[in-house]
Amino acid sequence: MQEETVSKNFIEQEIDKDLAEGVYTQVCTRFPPEPNGYLHIGHAKSILLNYGLAKKYNGTFHLRFDDTNPTKEDMEFVESIKEDVKWLGADWKDHLYFASDYFDMMYQCAIKLIKKGKAYVCDLSAEEIRAYRGTLTEPGKNSPYRDRSVEENLQLFEEMKEGLCQDGKRVLRARIDMASPNINMRDPVIYRVAHMSHHNTGDKWCIYPMYDFAHPIEDAMEKITHSICTLEFEDHRPLYDWVVRECEFDPAPRQIEFSKLYLTNVVTGKRYIKKLVQDGIVDGWDDPRLVSIAALRRRGFTPESIKMFVDMCGVSKSQSSVDYAMLEYCIREDLKLKKPRMMAVLDPIKLVIDNYPEGEVEYLEVDNNMENPELGMRKVPFCRELYIEREDFMIEPPKKYFRLFPGNEVRLMHAYFVKCEGYETDENGNVTVVHATYDPETKCGSGFTGRKVKGTIHWVAAPYAKQAQVRLYENLIDEEKGVYNKEDGSLNLNPDSLKILNNCYVEDSFADAGACDSFQFVRNGYFCIDSKDSAPDALVFNRIVSLKSSFKLPK
Ligand code: ATP
Ligand code: MG
Repeated sequence: MQEETVSKNFIEQEIDKDLAEGVYTQVCTRFPPEPNGYLHIGHAKSILLNYGLAKKYNGTFHLRFDDTNPTKEDMEFVESIKEDVKWLGADWKDHLYFASDYFDMMYQCAIKLIKKGKAYVCDLSAEEIRAYRGTLTEPGKNSPYRDRSVEENLQLFEEMKEGLCQDGKRVLRARIDMASPNINMRDPVIYRVAHMSHHNTGDKWCIYPMYDFAHPIEDAMEKITHSICTLEFEDHRPLYDWVVRECEFDPAPRQIEFSKLYLTNVVTGKRYIKKLVQDGIVDGWDDPRLVSIAALRRRGFTPESIKMFVDMCGVSKSQSSVDYAMLEYCIREDLKLKKPRMMAVLDPIKLVIDNYPEGEVEYLEVDNNMENPELGMRKVPFCRELYIEREDFMIEPPKKYFRLFPGNEVRLMHAYFVKCEGYETDENGNVTVVHATYDPETKCGSGFTGRKVKGTIHWVAAPYAKQAQVRLYENLIDEEKGVYNKEDGSLNLNPDSLKILNNCYVEDSFADAGACDSFQFVRNGYFCIDSKDSAPDALVFNRIVSLKSSFKLPK
C-alpha cells in the first residue's frame, strides 16, 4: 500500500484527492489534437498519459479533434491521427468527438456572457488591442467599447454572426480585468470574424471561437474531469476556470499541466519537419529518421517500447530533455525476447569451404531465439559457398583479432569450426574470396570438446540467401553542432544520416515475413522490413537500432 502511494505521479495524487473529496465521482480524460500535422513522440506521451489515467481509474478516455480553427486544419490528418492513437493502444471506444460539433453551444455561451455583462463587442483593430493590453510591468487600458450596453452588444454580435462585418473589423472580448497581473485575463478576444468555409460546418459560420474560450467549453460539454495539458497553458488556467465558471458549467473540468517531452538533438517542430519534407531531405512525414509516430512505426518501434519509454520519462512539471538513447534502450528491451535472431551479412565476401563436397547441402536445426525457446526452431542451409562479413577477415590482423585470418580457426555460428587456408584478390589487392577447410567433428550441438576457438562469426549460404537492401540510420542532426545553426536558425544536418547497403544477404527464412516484421540480425542489430518500399523479391530492411549502446539506465 505504502509503496503504491510513493510511485504515483503528481497528477494521480491530484486525482486521488479529487475523488476522495467527492469533487468528481469518476475520471474522464481526453487527447485533443489539432488536425494540422502528424503526431510525434511528444504527443504519444500525452496520449498514453491520458489513456493510462482513464484506464487506471476505470474511467473514460475521449479522442477529440480540436478543429475550431478553419484556417489551419486539414482532414488528411484526422485519419493519420486516428491510426496513430489506435496503434498506441489508446482505445477511445465510441468516444470520438469533433470540437466543431459544439459551435452552437459555444455561440450560446457567448450570448450568455454578453447578457451577464461579461463580454462585449470591440471595434479596436488587432494592433490597437495589442497596444491597449499593456505589458508584464504595466496594466492595460480599457477599450473605449468596453461599456457598450447588453442590447448593443447582442445586436453587434448578431451582425458579426450574420456576415455583416468584415474579417478583423470587430471581435467579441471577455470583460474581465485590464489591470490583471495575468495578461491572459486582460479582456481576451473570444470570437473573431473569419469568412471561411469549415471542413465540418461548411459556410454555416463566419465567426469562430478562440482556443482559450473553446477549449474549456469542449471539456465541459464532454464532462471531462481532468483536462491535462502542457506547461505553456499554466498561465491560461485562470481564464480556463473563468470561462467554465461564467458559462455556468457543473461539474467543472479541472486543468492540470505537465511538462512537455523533449528529446535531445531531435527535431519535433512541425515547421522544421515540413521543410525537411519539402526540401526532399527526408522521404515524407514517416521517414524512419523522424520521430513522428508514423516514422517510429515504420522504423520498427513497437507500441510497447514507446509505452516503456514514456513510463521511464515520468510525469513532472520540470522541463527537461531526454536522450534518444533511452528510446533505443526501450526498443531493444522489448524486442530482445520477442524476435527471432537470424543471420544476415551486410557487407559480404565469399567464403569457400574447399573440403566440403560440391553441390551438397545440409540443414542445421537452429534456435530462433536462444533466450526464448517458445519461438521455436528453424532449418538453416549450410553448403560449400557462404557469405561472411568483410570485416570478419583480415590478411594481417592486429593483436586481439580473433576472427578469420590465414592459419586461424573460428566457429561458424550454429555450424562448424573452419580454418582459413588462403584468399584471392583482384588486381587492386582487394580480397574477393576467402578459402577455408572445415572439421566435420566440430559440428555445433555434437558435444565436441576437442579444442577451443576464440572467435565466432555469422554467415549465410550463398546459393540459398536472399539479396536485400539494408538502410542504416544515424541521427538526422549533427550532434556535435546541436540542432540549430546559431547564425541563421537552420538545422545542422548530419550528411551521413542514411546509409544504403544494396548488396546484403539474409537467410531465406523471411519468405513469409510481412510488412513491419522485425528481427535481430545477429551481431548487427534489430531490423524491420520497410512497410513502404520492401517487396517479397526485393526486400528492404530498416535498422531499428544496433545491439550495443553506451546508454545507462537512470537510477
Ligand atoms: P506541436 O506543435 O509540437 O506539433 P501542438 O501542441 O501544436 O504540438 P496539439 O495538436 O495542439 O499539438 O497537441 C495535442 C496535445 O498534445 C496537447 O494536449 C498538447 O499539450 C500535447 N503535446 C504536444 N506536444 C507535446 C509534447 N512534446 N509532450 C507532451 N505532450 C505534448
Ligand atoms: Mg497546438
